[in-house]
Amino acid sequence: MVSGPVVTRFAPSPTGFLHIGGARTALFNWAFARHHGGKFLLRIEDTDRARSTDAAIDAILDGMAWLGLDTDDTPVYQHKNADRHIEIAQKLLASGHAYKCYCTPEEIESMRETARAAGKPLRYNGTWRDRDPTEAPDGRAYVVRFRAPKHGEIEIDDCVQGAVTIANDQLDDLIILRSDGTPTYMLSVVVDDHDMGVTHIIRGDDHLTNAARQIQIYNALGWQVPEFAHLPLILGSDGVKLSKRHGSLGVDAYRDMGLLPEAMRNYLARLGWSHGDDEIFTTEQLITWFGLEAIGKSPARFDMTKLENVNGHHIRRHDDSALATLVCANAPELAPVQDALEDAMPALKERAKNLHEIADMGGFLISTRPIDITEKAAKSLTPDTRGRLAALHPRLETLNNWEKAAIETEIRAFLNDYDLKLGDIAPALRAALTGLSVSPSIFDVVALLDKAEVLGRLKDQI
Ligand code: GLU
Repeated sequence: MVSGPVVTRFAPSPTGFLHIGGARTALFNWAFARHHGGKFLLRIEDTDRARSTDAAIDAILDGMAWLGLDTDDTPVYQHKNADRHIEIAQKLLASGHAYKCYCTPEEIESMRETARAAGKPLRYNGTWRDRDPTEAPDGRAYVVRFRAPKHGEIEIDDCVQGAVTIANDQLDDLIILRSDGTPTYMLSVVVDDHDMGVTHIIRGDDHLTNAARQIQIYNALGWQVPEFAHLPLILGSDGVKLSKRHGSLGVDAYRDMGLLPEAMRNYLARLGWSHGDDEIFTTEQLITWFGLEAIGKSPARFDMTKLENVNGHHIRRHDDSALATLVCANAPELAPVQDALEDAMPALKERAKNLHEIADMGGFLISTRPIDITEKAAKSLTPDTRGRLAALHPRLETLNNWEKAAIETEIRAFLNDYDLKLGDIAPALRAALTGLSVSPSIFDVVALLDKAEVLGRLKDQI
């Protein structure tokens, strides 16, 4: 058991965008550290210099900043620790926990052939494990291999998967230093996690067997093994491994879709973790409630519709003024009417699932006459309804108090006089004033526009 303060880390390889799975891993590490008042660290695993790109690093940093996943130290760039990784490899060599392997590429290829013929993955056959290194031909290149224990087993007491046992004879002697002297991933991860004081490794379950190999290395070094929590995959809504087709995009794409970071945190948390029946919660609640014991063992399914629903809830909880600022940042054409947008926000956000819908619905505030009317909205403008708008026009013209309550009273009185129901005029009124078939309540719409503008837009349709 780990004692002392919790330290977690997110350790992405910067070879692509920060996708949903990575964002969830980051969130779980962050929430766990915050829950325990510990530290959350970021390590960029950029040892594969050919595949790591600055653009991917930026995408990871931007995505985490947008998601509000703040770290407690500057990011660690793994490739900068290479000297330290080599030092530890030398230490393992010196203690006999590693050895030099002088196999030629041809010999390795023949092991691969044998494995392939048996339908098994390549396993090193141990040629140099016990051979005297002085037998090596002069000047022949070598790799350094970890001398993995042959007997017994590794038990991973995984916080999510439970007890997982892997027999040591299933794990061969992996390379820790390549022939060019560079360290390999498996060694670097262990050394960095140890040096960063990581107490809990929370990551995708594709790393579960790596954990067994890593535990062997921890043991050889006499280092304390951290706790592991391997998260089940995220599947698409059809139960197949999540891909672009299911909406698995970079985190930036979700920002561009007009989602709020708190909604994203809420939804991502529910991809594998639960707290009773709670579906909608704040980030403070997430931090208070989060624990590894409530992470499920079966894969979660990503569902864009649900994400948008969660976003709608958070939009309605979000401060109106802050929302107006966000909407204007997305739709700069609305910036001149930001105040009006803020006034309209309680009505606008009522049905919106994302910030773009708010912008679209708020667009009527800046439309200029004659306003564009969508095909769908135009259907409600018939000779009959245009006649009703014509009858309503003078009633509004003589109304002096241009406030929502007074407007509503006047329109209802008009309906009463003509023996009409609200539904007999609202769609046409909405079309004439907003050009849309959905909008905030019609009384809000009238009140949010200037009287002259309302009368003008009505005139245009009469
Ligand atoms: N860099 C690895 C990856 O992106 C993660 C390694 C780890 O979390 O231990 O899959």
